[in-house]
Amino acid sequence: MSHSFERDVIVIGGGPAGSTVARYAAEGGVDVLVIDGRDPIGSPLQCGELVPSNDEMRRLCPDVPDMDDLFRTPKSAISLYSKKMHLVPPSGKPLKFDFDGYVLNRVAHDEFLVELAQKSGAEYMVGTRVDKVEENTVHLKDGTNITAKIIVDAGGHNGPIRRDYWNEKSTKIPVKFVLMDGDFGDAVELHFGSMAPGGYAWMFPKQGGANIGLGIQRSFSKGRSLNQYTEDFISKYEGNISFNGAGSLPMSGTIKKFVKGNYVLVGDSAGMVLPSNGAGITIAMIGGRIAGQVISEHLSSDLPLDEYEKRWKKQMGKVMRNSKRSFKFGSLLFRLPDWILNMMFNRLTKGIIWRAVTCRRMFWLF
Ligand SMILES: Cc1cc2nc3c(=O)[nH]c(=O)nc-3n(C[C@H](O)[C@H](O)[C@H](O)COP(=O)(O)OP(=O)(O)OC[C@H]3O[C@@H](n4cnc5c(N)ncnc54)[C@H](O)[C@@H]3O)c2cc1C
Repeated sequence: MSHSFERDVIVIGGGPAGSTVARYAAEGGVDVLVIDGRDPIGSPLQCGELVPSNDEMRRLCPDVPDMDDLFRTPKSAISLYSKKMHLVPPSGKPLKFDFDGYVLNRVAHDEFLVELAQKSGAEYMVGTRVDKVEENTVHLKDGTNITAKIIVDAGGHNGPIRRDYWNEKSTKIPVKFVLMDGDFGDAVELHFGSMAPGGYAWMFPKQGGANIGLGIQRSFSKGRSLNQYTEDFISKYEGNISFNGAGSLPMSGTIKKFVKGNYVLVGDSAGMVLPSNGAGITIAMIGGRIAGQVISEHLSSDLPLDEYEKRWKKQMGKVMRNSKRSFKFGSLLFRLPDWILNMMFNRLTKGIIWRAVTCRRMFWLF
């Protein structure tokens, strides 16, 4: 038997984007239901688990207000505090930078975001997938239909509304990673070159281990599979593998429109990943807060929903533009042979490379 319910807002997906939309919309008095196919949300792990600290986020995204209200990462969700980032060319000789970040326990992190949203009044339905959305009705795979005034797709880049109502394609980078036991120091590492063509590899140390993985652009990979690249990279490190994971990242930056009628996209479904460094968790939450606040103002005082796109551009437009540009530039650069890349990673270019990774203009003109 199918049931039908009437809600102000249904959010499809309770990851960082969906739970943050739900939290801020519920804080504004909106009746929100979040539906997620996973139970528990966040599991199994699909992430490198690195996020910048709040201070680092203020430097990276200077137009985003009140970071401390948005990012309340509890100690229980942080595996390791890092103060160093190494950018490593194929030679293995790193350029070293100060960087303030957390390597998370991502599952605990996403569970905490669910708790925050629930405390604000949002309700969750987990272990139930959305099949499709038609007009104001969300059809669940189990046959239930639920109606809502506004439907938010925070279901990632294959979310049901993005899939059925947006034509825009995003470049997707397939990614594989492992959790490995051992002691890997405290510097987070990003590796560039032929070991990860068109993408990058990472080693993010955790308490008692590390998250190690790699993403490639298939068109750059000369017939070798992602598995082969991953095995080669991981074999540089020693330790027991306790977990294998995979996923894919949208790497073209944000799509043109986040709103169509009463449908709203947020997080990966709107392309909110910084292509030059793969950061998606914090960026999904920035988009989620704006969307949640605008939805609440829309329902209480008729603010047009596309105000969400305007506020996003004001807070994140410049950072996203620079990041897209750096990614395009990097994609050209990383086609070059490794020996040229090794030469290009030097003291003179150090500042330019750091500006590209941290989404600032690389040169005076671009
Ligand atoms: C391997 C990998 C490594 C990464 N490493 C990092 C990193 O180190 N740092 C970083 O900042 N970012 C990283 N990212 C990116 C980051 O994980 C994402 O950008 C971020 O999770 C986006 O949040 P989201 O809420 O939009 O989507 P998600 O976190 O993907 O959440 C989407 C939710 O929607 C649910 N869902 C989807 N479809 C349906 C449906 N039809 N019905 C019901 N529920 C549905 C899913 O179950 C899921 O819980 C990585 C991504 C991958 C794949």
